[in-house]
Amino acid sequence: MVNYYLITAVLAVINLFVLIFIFEPKKTNYYFMILLLLFALTNGAYLAIAVSTSLEEAVLANKISYLGGCFMPPIVLFLIIAICNYTIKPWLRCGLYIYSAIVYFSVLTIGYSNIYYDSIYLDKFMDATVLGHTYGPAHKMFYVILYGYLIIQIALLVYSLVKRRVVSKYSLGAMLLMEVVTISLFIAGRMINPNIEIMPLVYVTDGWFFLYMYRRGMVYNVEDNIAGSFAKQGTYGYIMLDTKLNYLGCNQTAVSIFPGISECVVDHTITKVPEMEVISTWIGEYSQNAKKVFNYENKERHFECRIESIMYGRKVCGYMVELRDDTDRWQKINLISKHNAELQELTVQLEKAKEEAERANKAKSDFLARVSHEIRTPVNAILGMNEMILRESDDDEICNYADDVKNAALSLLSIINELLDSSKIESGMMEIIEENYHLGSVLNDLYTMVSIRAKEKELSLSFEVDEKMPRAYCGDAKRIKQVVLNILTNAIKYTTQGSVLLKVSCNKVEQEEAVLTFSVKDTGIGIRNENIEKIYDAFQRFDLEKNKNVEGTGLGMNIVQQFLKLMGSELKIVSEYGKGSEFSFEIRQKVIDATPIGDFKDKKSYLAKESVQKKGFTAPDAKILVVDDNKMNIKVLKGLLKQNKVQPDEAMSGKECLALTEHNTYDLIFLDHMMPEMDGIETLHVMKEKKLCENTPVIMLTANAIAGDRERYLAEGFNDFISKPVMPQVLNEVLLKYLPEEKIL
Ligand code: ADP
Repeated sequence: MVNYYLITAVLAVINLFVLIFIFEPKKTNYYFMILLLLFALTNGAYLAIAVSTSLEEAVLANKISYLGGCFMPPIVLFLIIAICNYTIKPWLRCGLYIYSAIVYFSVLTIGYSNIYYDSIYLDKFMDATVLGHTYGPAHKMFYVILYGYLIIQIALLVYSLVKRRVVSKYSLGAMLLMEVVTISLFIAGRMINPNIEIMPLVYVTDGWFFLYMYRRGMVYNVEDNIAGSFAKQGTYGYIMLDTKLNYLGCNQTAVSIFPGISECVVDHTITKVPEMEVISTWIGEYSQNAKKVFNYENKERHFECRIESIMYGRKVCGYMVELRDDTDRWQKINLISKHNAELQELTVQLEKAKEEAERANKAKSDFLARVSHEIRTPVNAILGMNEMILRESDDDEICNYADDVKNAALSLLSIINELLDSSKIESGMMEIIEENYHLGSVLNDLYTMVSIRAKEKELSLSFEVDEKMPRAYCGDAKRIKQVVLNILTNAIKYTTQGSVLLKVSCNKVEQEEAVLTFSVKDTGIGIRNENIEKIYDAFQRFDLEKNKNVEGTGLGMNIVQQFLKLMGSELKIVSEYGKGSEFSFEIRQKVIDATPIGDFKDKKSYLAKESVQKKGFTAPDAKILVVDDNKMNIKVLKGLLKQNKVQPDEAMSGKECLALTEHNTYDLIFLDHMMPEMDGIETLHVMKEKKLCENTPVIMLTANAIAGDRERYLAEGFNDFISKPVMPQVLNEVLLKYLPEEKIL
């Protein structure tokens, strides 16, 4: 008989270990754990009674066995309550435990009092010791535990089996079966022989039932216990399904998202419930394409739904659908997409506006180029004719008037040039043309250009040039000259008394490159601090009241800054309002000749040609052809050439030019660009095709002064170009450069 108790005790312990080590990979379920522990403990106590040798030992073991007897029934009840998804009030739960505790305290009186057991004695059944006893009055309380719980449990299970749709009928059925088996075994044991304690066997079989249920429970055990996961409310909704899409359960949040769940019956397929079809579609996609995340919208709420497989070992034994209310994030995403769409729309509009602005800008540039062309032609005539007057008149008064005409025409020309430069820069057509130059020549030109004005205003103008700095560089001398000229002109313009000083120095010379510093300091009206930043804005002028007699367009500084930017530099301005200003910039230039510049006014180094010019020259034998559709222009050029005793042929169209070049050989041809029917470029192309005057240099004569023209004309095959109005000095330079030397006298 002891073996019987031994086997049942061992089996109960095995059940406990099976739960702990095999079925429980992560968390131990509280109720299952406690119950199987109590089974093992109680069966151990029964074994202890069976092997006890004294009454005291048997009594002690009996008291331990009662632990199970007193506390297992309420725990089983709580487990059933949890599985059936009911809740029990804490005070009731506590009350039931207290009742069990009271019963157990009366059990502890065994051996000391007769309230629980009236009498006790040791007996033997087969080889096992039996604790014989007669019951005292308190034992009745134990019957309440025994039968009371049994009745309540069975009632609850039957009720749930019939009524509750949300609890697995397999689990409930298993529990009910366990209760029936327990009662049957108990009654059978009492009937066969009251000396055989049947409870150890009951506990073992109960343990098996619990293990079965626990295994089933694991399929949908998402939280701490089976039923708990379903009962728990939270921000996440959970729906459990087995692999055949049978519904296993869900939590309250899931019901609020999918109200159709209430139509689902546990262990029945969800595919029959219309609202749940979407979930079976997801699971279909999940198992075929491994797509995990789905979006679901319901009553203006948005949910992110995620499918996870529920694994049992390596086998998929079900699916868990997790539902997360994602409305806030979704709304934000929608808002962002809306904003993005708006931004896109705005970008398209801006793009359109930009295109329109560019079109308008292009139209403005074209207009400026046209206007400049139109103005240059008459200015060419004015200056040319005026030059004739200056050259041919001996009357001082008339020469003075002619001088004034010249100055006015030149200043008109400089305004047009500024406008053109600015529009060229704006349209990105301005380019830097690098060539070798002598700094002395640049400075001399500058001095000549500004000294007259300074003298007129009685300002002291001085150039301080570092005598040790290299004398020749490679860079865009024309632009540098224009920049310094602009700054110097302004300094003189905005200074009423005092001085204007240009300082030029060379800071660093390294690897054939030098950093040149130009600074212009004046004692003029100065600029207010707040205006310094604005000085670069086009058409910006300050103190208009004070400067109303100072002419200007407000473009100069803008052009200076743009030119410097093109050359990788920038203008620095230090100014004190009322006291004067200093404008400076640094520019990196390649050194061509490192010989010290010395006194820059000493022109010997670079003025070889100029000296010839100074003397003046004639070329009476030179054969020159002038082609222009404008009679006045031809007259001007002929007038300018008179001094050199040149008698040019004239042609008033491309055709005439071709006819003349067919029969004559020229030393030099001046060809106008814009002519009706055949323009200068076409004419040149035909000449080249027909090999007319093949070796004659052809100079483009144009009123177009847009940057890039030079390259364009050279590429078309011209040898050089002169822009109108034709400056006598430039004309002379061209004659000297292109006429055969033997014809220059
Ligand atoms: P403007 O054609 O009017 O001279 P700029 O662009 O050259 O145009 O200069 C812009 C404005 O900056 C001028 O109108 C003037 O108010 C101010 N400015 C430029 N240079 C000086 C200077 N040396 N001293 C005082 N003010 C100056």
